[in-house]
This record gives sequence, C-alpha cells and structure tokens, in this order.
Amino acid sequence: MKSYEYEAVTYDAAAYCVECLPEGVDAESDEVSPIFADAEVDAAVVCDACGATHDYMNIRRLSFPHVDEVTRALANVRKVIEGECDVRLQVYEDGAWAIRYGLSDYDQDHRGYWGASSIDADTSDEALRHTAIDLIDEAEEQYSAAS
Ligand SMILES: [Zn+2]
Repeated sequence: MKSYEYEAVTYDAAAYCVECLPEGVDAESDEVSPIFADAEVDAAVVCDACGATHDYMNIRRLSFPHVDEVTRALANVRKVIEGECDVRLQVYEDGAWAIRYGLSDYDQDHRGYWGASSIDADTSDEALRHTAIDLIDEAEEQYSAAS
C-alpha cells in the first residue's frame, strides 16, 4: 500500500472499514479520519461494524530489553544466591521489565511475557549471557504467539 492509502477510518471514537461506516457517513467527510498506511498505531485496528482486522499500518512492536541489561540483572542475582536458583524475565506491555528469582509461587504479578531458566552461584559470565538470550527469546516467542 502507498503511504496515503487507507482501508480503515475512525469516526465517533470507533474504527470502521471504509465500507462499514454508518449510513449517511462518508469517508470524505470532516468527522471521519482515515488511518493512512504510514500511520503508527499500537495495535491492529478492528472494525466496529464487521469485526475485520486491519493491520496494514505500522504497528509498534513491544521493545524487549537488551541482552547486556538482562545479563547485568542476572549477575546481580548471582551475587545473592547460594546454589541453583530459578530465574524469570518478565516483560510488561509497556516495555518495562524485571528479573524475578526464587520460587515462582511467590510471583504475585503475572502480567506480560515471560522467560524462565535457572542459574547458580557459580554460573560463568558467558553462561549468564546465554541464559539472558534464552530468557529474552522465550518472552519474545510468547509475545509473538499472543499478538
Ligand atoms: Zn468493517
């Protein structure tokens, strides 16, 4: 699609396919805003009338933490554990993230996307980095499957 083309519009706080606009409302009228192909949106647009999904525009992807950041967070966990310990990466819808460790029974907050693995007090820096990559991959896969 060209950047100025569109198949969906917003009208009266709802989204519609051009063909699904209520009777008497025209896509060209002032109250109707086209969603152009080069628009940036948070999610695909669903038509209020027919339920069709429009994903021709640029949909912002959730950004996942960088492997260096996650490796650093894991290194901090490594400092405080004895023996083997479960670690989890939690990535929220807004891109914020946290490393959880210890028994998953204690995780109060289940939102977002997760990766799970384990490290121990003797895990090398390199192995820690691999763990970080695995955690990010797993959370990303969960995100792709959900969206
Ligand atoms: Zn429609």
